[in-house]
Amino acid sequence: MKAAVVTDFGKPLEIQDLPVPEPGPGQVLVKMEASGLCHTDIHAAHGDWPVKPRPPFVPGHEGIGPVTAVGAGVPADLVGKRVAVPWLGSSCGTCRYCVSGWETLCESQVNSGYSVDGCYAEYAVADASGIVRVPDGVSSFDAAPLTCAGVTTYKAIKVARVVPAERVAVFGIGGLGHLALQYARLVGGLVTAVDLEPDKLGLAHRLGADEIVNARTHDPVEEIRKAGGADVAVVLAAAPTAFEQAFRSLNRGGRLVMVALPADDAAIKVPIFETVLGGISVIGSIVGTRQDLAEVFALHAAGRTQVIAETRRLDQVNDSFDEVLGGRAEARLVFEF
Ligand SMILES: [Zn+2]
Ligand SMILES: [Zn+2]
Repeated sequence: MKAAVVTDFGKPLEIQDLPVPEPGPGQVLVKMEASGLCHTDIHAAHGDWPVKPRPPFVPGHEGIGPVTAVGAGVPADLVGKRVAVPWLGSSCGTCRYCVSGWETLCESQVNSGYSVDGCYAEYAVADASGIVRVPDGVSSFDAAPLTCAGVTTYKAIKVARVVPAERVAVFGIGGLGHLALQYARLVGGLVTAVDLEPDKLGLAHRLGADEIVNARTHDPVEEIRKAGGADVAVVLAAAPTAFEQAFRSLNRGGRLVMVALPADDAAIKVPIFETVLGGISVIGSIVGTRQDLAEVFALHAAGRTQVIAETRRLDQVNDSFDEVLGGRAEARLVFEF
């Protein structure tokens, strides 16, 4: 099978011909129909984060396709069913996080395309306990971005507890942001989209953002405060400045939700006085659970969300990385097989 392989950090990925993997006990084999490109894959390939994957490896955690074989202990009727292979490949199932619906915090989790080979390949093995069924009303092409970008931003809006008529600022439109703003609107939020690129702000406008702010030409803090401030600010842009601007745009009682992961071990200064007097919350939010992803698919099948993505071939992987890094991709890129 064809696979895009990271042979060393920072090197271009190599398209290699690898044997189709065999599903072990508790695993399934998935034939990829669509596989999304998440910024995390680029960080993985560059070894950007403190916890690093070990080359050679196959990145990718937005993989969609039918199950074609099952390992020991997995029901055979899964064969033929279309599934999603998400970032959270598997978790221990028994720790305090796993048993309370927070498997995303499990300390023994396995991550697709990071600690095990992922979905930039014609086939991928996945743990049967980690996959999520894709309903008929959701195409594989749309399901791919929903599997990470969708569930991640859906969860961010959930943990922020947005209620109708609250003002939600989304910093960073693109693969994640274009979905974040739709989820914020779904729960009744009034959305301000912040980005540096006019094209992405145009996309936000098309998708129903109430206000748009170009952070290259205007101070987003000033603009957001002028319009009533933000009750929730979700940061999807990987620049520490965006986190600081988001914090400073909050109203009293506001919630800052951190989602993006800057390349270095970045930090922001949180002023204690304003945080205490303003009753401000700072929340970290990492992907979403299998249940969250099932909800994301259900909303999409019901026509409540729109996925903006473009198709690429797997052998265009290095150019596709450049497109994302250069901010040229409008939203998500999806490899189709
Ligand atoms: Zn991702
Ligand atoms: Zn666990």
